[in-house]
Amino acid sequence: MPLFSLAVALRRQQFCRFPANTPGSVHVHSIRRNYHLDRLRRPAAIVVGAGPAGIATVGNLLETIKDGEIVWFDKSFKGGRINSAYREVPGNTAVKLFVDYAKAVEPFREIVESAAKPNPITVLEGLPQDGTCSLSHAGDMLQFLTDGLLKKHPRLKPVIAEVKAVARDTEASLWNVFTDHVGIPKNCPHRPWTAAPLLVYCTGSHPIEGLAVDKPSVKRLPLDTALRPSVLSKLLKQELVKKDGPLKIGVIGGSHSAILVLMNLYAIAKEYPNREIGITWFARSKTLKYAEQRDGYILNDNTGLKGHAAKFAREMLDGEALDNSHAGKYIQRELLTGTKAQQHRQTTMGVTECDLYVEAIGYERERLPPTRNPWTEIVNEEGQLAVNELFNPRTGAIGNVADGLYGAGIAFPEEVDTPEGTKEMAVGMWKFMKYLKRAVPEWVAAAGIEKK
Ligand SMILES: Cc1cc2nc3c(=O)[nH]c(=O)nc-3n(C[C@H](O)[C@H](O)[C@H](O)COP(=O)(O)OP(=O)(O)OC[C@H]3O[C@@H](n4cnc5c(N)ncnc54)[C@H](O)[C@@H]3O)c2cc1C
Repeated sequence: MPLFSLAVALRRQQFCRFPANTPGSVHVHSIRRNYHLDRLRRPAAIVVGAGPAGIATVGNLLETIKDGEIVWFDKSFKGGRINSAYREVPGNTAVKLFVDYAKAVEPFREIVESAAKPNPITVLEGLPQDGTCSLSHAGDMLQFLTDGLLKKHPRLKPVIAEVKAVARDTEASLWNVFTDHVGIPKNCPHRPWTAAPLLVYCTGSHPIEGLAVDKPSVKRLPLDTALRPSVLSKLLKQELVKKDGPLKIGVIGGSHSAILVLMNLYAIAKEYPNREIGITWFARSKTLKYAEQRDGYILNDNTGLKGHAAKFAREMLDGEALDNSHAGKYIQRELLTGTKAQQHRQTTMGVTECDLYVEAIGYERERLPPTRNPWTEIVNEEGQLAVNELFNPRTGAIGNVADGLYGAGIAFPEEVDTPEGTKEMAVGMWKFMKYLKRAVPEWVAAAGIEKK
């Protein structure tokens, strides 16, 4: 039976309190008593995901909730995508914001203050605080905090597992979480792994792949690979050997990630003296957008280019700069025109002339586990359903605040008003932390959990 249907069936059976095949009343009574004990030991909250948002959520929950366990699920506890995909990416936020993140809540401060030196925080403190740094430093900091939390906190229960389904028990006001973890009791395989009144999804996002190219010789270069110069240069070397001729690479997009990819490709291409690598850049606009310091605020803070990417774009790519820059010897811009559908067709056609192509056109939510309450299929078996309409980017709630289901991080960013009167999604480790410091005490109060 698919997990989701299982979860629904369970709700009807009151979550398998008494397995149907349990013989004899003594056994039933002991199971009933154990169930009661389970409920007394029930965790206060569940967090799914251990990237920057999950770590910040756990820190804030530990700081806010008086007692009660916090169950924390992740597939690996390795710091999320910063460590799995972006360690070679130059950061776009000031170093001091990573330090601020590491000291933002009491449980983090305890870890930092009791740790031997040097450690990833002292390394960050030793760098120019207003400058940017490689995200490997941020990744080390996230792993350091994760390890510290897992070692130090008796109230934190980490589970290395993928959450496979979530269902609401309205009678008990709990979210039941199902996994494929070996720890599911054998005599009642349909029982949830755990349950709590508050559940937070910090499940992250992955690159959007929207193009279908119907030509076998044209291969997709995954964005995650294109953001890792050490892997990218080896891969291109292999492709050049196989091709025995110039290699043409298409890059689609004009955002931060696209510029980072162009920067990486240019750095590799110029190593080859005979122009063996050529890059076609499919861009919607000739000019680019930058984050700019204004009087007391940053214009385009969440949408404009920053750091190394901004410097490279200004000097080498933007507008007329590409015509005369050194990067312009390797990168040729193809401007996309017309409606979105026309631009899509133009890109697909253009890409068929390439050997490899990279889509850097944005990020979408990781597939969420099927999630439902008795009235709404919040997420269906195929991925995402009502979640888009139900998510409130101002409160973090997915559905009714009283239900206690929330989202945070890049998959569920906070919506903020800009000084220009527009709205933006606040993405970045320090932004997640700032938001969670305000939001978590509200979530805990709304779920009726006792605060410190
Ligand atoms: C190219 C790029 C550069 C960036 N640079 C910066 C920067 O310089 N500074 C900055 O502050 N921010 C930066 N960001 C933004 C942001 O900090 C990162 O995207 C960050 O990784 C988002 O954190 P997250 O916790 O929301 O998600 P993730 O890091 O993706 O973590 C999600 C975690 O959830 C787990 N998970 C998902 N589903 C399940 C499930 N069902 N069960 C169990 N576990 C699950 C995953 O395994 C993962 O560990 C950058 C983003 C990008 C794309």
